[in-house]
Amino acid sequence: MNIHEYQAKELLAKYGVGISAGIPALTVEEAVAAAKQLPGPLYVVKAQIHAGGRGKGKFKELGPDAKGGVRLAKSVEEVEAFAKEMLGNTLVTIQTGDAGKQVNRLYVTDGVDIDKEYYFSMLVDRKTGRVAMIVSTEGGMDIEEVAHSTPEKITTVTIDPAEGFKPHHGRAVAFALKLTGDLNKQAQKLSKQIYEAFIAMDCDMLEINPLVESKASDSKPAELLVLDTKMSFDSNALFRHPDIFALRDETEEDPAEIEASKYDLAYIKLDGDIGCMVNGAGLAMATMDIIKLNGMFPANFLDVGGGATTEKVTAAFKIILADPNVKGILVNIFGGIMRCDVIAEGIVAAAKDVNLSVPLVVRLEGTNVEKGKEILGNSGLAIVPANDLGDAAKKIVAEVQKVA
Ligand code: ADP
Ligand code: MG
Repeated sequence: MNIHEYQAKELLAKYGVGISAGIPALTVEEAVAAAKQLPGPLYVVKAQIHAGGRGKGKFKELGPDAKGGVRLAKSVEEVEAFAKEMLGNTLVTIQTGDAGKQVNRLYVTDGVDIDKEYYFSMLVDRKTGRVAMIVSTEGGMDIEEVAHSTPEKITTVTIDPAEGFKPHHGRAVAFALKLTGDLNKQAQKLSKQIYEAFIAMDCDMLEINPLVESKASDSKPAELLVLDTKMSFDSNALFRHPDIFALRDETEEDPAEIEASKYDLAYIKLDGDIGCMVNGAGLAMATMDIIKLNGMFPANFLDVGGGATTEKVTAAFKIILADPNVKGILVNIFGGIMRCDVIAEGIVAAAKDVNLSVPLVVRLEGTNVEKGKEILGNSGLAIVPANDLGDAAKKIVAEVQKVA
């Protein structure tokens, strides 16, 4: 699960991490009121969408010369003008795809006088079985580009979670960022705070880009501040964090995926033409592979799980068919715990319920498979039975091409 920048910053602040002060706003009036509460005279108005690259993004409804999704404002009036332009409009960034995302929330923050921008992220590193801190002196810009052209400018510090964060990890981070004196100490402290936040909240990814060093002034020494952050959480651990779960913004998620999650279906939309309904993630992947092997592409990944009830199968059919790209459906179910006859009954009931309009190939295997096939055969529906996975993939591709 992902959350918005302002929510992530508020969470990090609880662990002592320095952030630029800011207030979220849902309306122009709220944005103005937010700016009035901040010290000024420099403000930054930031679109809150679950995608990065906002600064360089473009609003669909505004001209090509209009400013992007992160705007520096020099007065409360300018904050108001920007809020009017941004709210309700569609921001397209390199991460949103061409459709873009409607901006429904803004974050009005303190403008920071920046001396230098750094990159800092943390993730679960499957390769080493540890958590990794990835840092670079090249912050603010596209980190993928830095990794591609100057990989030596990226340092990875891995931490064994059983051992926990040790002072040498903090020193390694501060050294990699080439910081000295008080800023070096700040980086060590910040690394520890971020590690604690990451573990305590069961994050699976936390990215700060940029982490900045502010310009020192007469009244204030230079400090390290988080100016932008993205945070995502391990969904399997969310039950431990009702407060974090409450931050979920469904308007940022794919409606079909939200519908699927209501029925405990693991669904991910893809770009192909063949809808797939499978039980078990491994079998679902194999099914997608074999569709490709036969020359077409899967329209989705869908794992109905171990207990595929009629209700679940019906919901799955509806979700698959709601995708206008779907030209045929391949059902591949292994009835281990579930009996094939029960599944067959579910498929028949669901197919009748949704008025199935595209070819349907069903491959069943497992307990009571003969009975299951009999139910499908006697259903009066144009269901094409298949004997094995290879046969099923060939048949659905042939059926779809026959219609086309
Ligand atoms: P995104 O990564 O989605 O484009 P950021 O929040 O990183 O959005 O903003 C882009 C750039 O805008 C930053 O790299 C930074 O230079 C500048 N910026 C962001 N927030 C502030 C701020 N509070 N004060 C000054 N500059 C900012
Ligand atoms: Mg950023």
